[in-house]
Amino acid sequence: MSDFILVLDEGTTSTRAMLFAADGKLQASAQQELDQHYPKSGWVEHDAAEIWDKTLACALEVIPQAGGAACISAIGITNQRETVVAWDKSTGEPLTRAIVWQDRRTADMCAQLRAAGHEEDVQRRTGLLLDPYFSGTKMRWMIDNVPEVKAAAQAGTLAFGTIESWLIFKLTGGSHISDASNASRTLLLELAGRGFDQGLCDLFGVPHAALPEVVDMSGQLGETDPELFGRAIPISGIAGDQQSATIGQACLSPGETKATYGTGAFVLTNQGYGIPLSTNRLLSTVLTQIDGGRTYAIEGSVFVAGSLVQWLRDSLGIVQKASETEGLARSIADTGGVTIVPALSGLGAPHWRADARGVISGLSFATGKAELARAALEAMAHQTYDLAEAFAADGTAWETLRIDGGMAANDWMAQDLANILQVPVERPSFVETTALGAAMLAAAGVGQYASLEVAAEAMRGELQTFEPDLEDNVREERLARWRQALAAA
Ligand code: ADP
Repeated sequence: MSDFILVLDEGTTSTRAMLFAADGKLQASAQQELDQHYPKSGWVEHDAAEIWDKTLACALEVIPQAGGAACISAIGITNQRETVVAWDKSTGEPLTRAIVWQDRRTADMCAQLRAAGHEEDVQRRTGLLLDPYFSGTKMRWMIDNVPEVKAAAQAGTLAFGTIESWLIFKLTGGSHISDASNASRTLLLELAGRGFDQGLCDLFGVPHAALPEVVDMSGQLGETDPELFGRAIPISGIAGDQQSATIGQACLSPGETKATYGTGAFVLTNQGYGIPLSTNRLLSTVLTQIDGGRTYAIEGSVFVAGSLVQWLRDSLGIVQKASETEGLARSIADTGGVTIVPALSGLGAPHWRADARGVISGLSFATGKAELARAALEAMAHQTYDLAEAFAADGTAWETLRIDGGMAANDWMAQDLANILQVPVERPSFVETTALGAAMLAAAGVGQYASLEVAAEAMRGELQTFEPDLEDNVREERLARWRQALAAA
């Protein structure tokens, strides 16, 4: 039997190899932590060679558990988006450390481009904003500041890529490709464009020749070098992590929405075939590209979600474990007027206020651990509500919300989301939707299923639904308090 799908899930903090059966059940996994390098304030780097070594090690660990490479029908890849690797095509070696999506070193470059009046045009063409988060300015920074990168560009041997592109180069022994979902996070791909755009490359000062070919997300996309695993395994699914989670939640029809609550929170709504343009500071991005046809999504991200709970745990010592917040929230009827605005590292969509800082309002002598824990969880619903309003203003009101991520395990938070958003909240029994989405793309891409829709139907697990159940006046009062506190942030 050769029908296991091997997924390589390249997160920010770890790399994993996961083995999925055809019904979407996880059979085995291996994981290794990645070193985080912080050479200066606001800088975050990864070692691309380490990412490759650990990815290969994890794959070699799980393949025997499938019964060997002969039992693996395809490989799917999903990854942290926007992070840039520069390597030399002739040696296959990285030229410098990868610049990670969180890195802010190109903030000034973005501000200059904004001051020069480029943002509106860039947003219309790419769906993105001029923010250091995206890859284009990180590539330019490497050319300007790393002599090895500049020399390789001049010699014509420079390769730029996001993490999936780097791994595919190593897995295949030299194929330089990037899938459309990852490519759409670089600022160098037009939402409607087939390949990277020369005009955008000129604007950001990135040599077009160093960029990969933009390819589909499902299909015969490459094959592993037979030397690696003992046989050539097809690579047939690729997606950036948030697009992959959207697919893993089977949000394949227009209007369907998922929210991932991990360190931060990422919300994507399927927009179908039409190219969306947000007028409410949300991003437009490629959701799928199959047989050359694209679907799109609108995306909103919140910087602080689970990290607020981590802060309660590690800095304030209010809980020992993140999951204790649930019991504390349930132990009281309300927060006694306490509201937390978790702007600990600024505010993301739809506010985009990098300079905002956190607020805890309504403190009294009656405020204790339970009130703070509950207020922290309530903040997730409040932040998501602001996104819901922005999505609705863009013409995409949510009918249900499918949630995942580590924090989604919290039943109290799931119910509170339903209460504040006034829509049913659905949670799959298997919450590793990012990896599952890549498995669905790979299974469909290798012909194990007739289409991505069929793969998603066959591979997604059971859902648990949380129905709204809160009196209107209580909800209104909560939102009013949130707006007041937000104004102070
Ligand atoms: P990431 O993928 O971003 O590393 P995860 O999806 O693993 O994050 O989610 C972990 C985050 O979720 C942590 O910040 C943690 O504080 C939070 N978290 C995990 N379990 C719970 C829970 N039961 N209640 C509240 N927060 C939780």
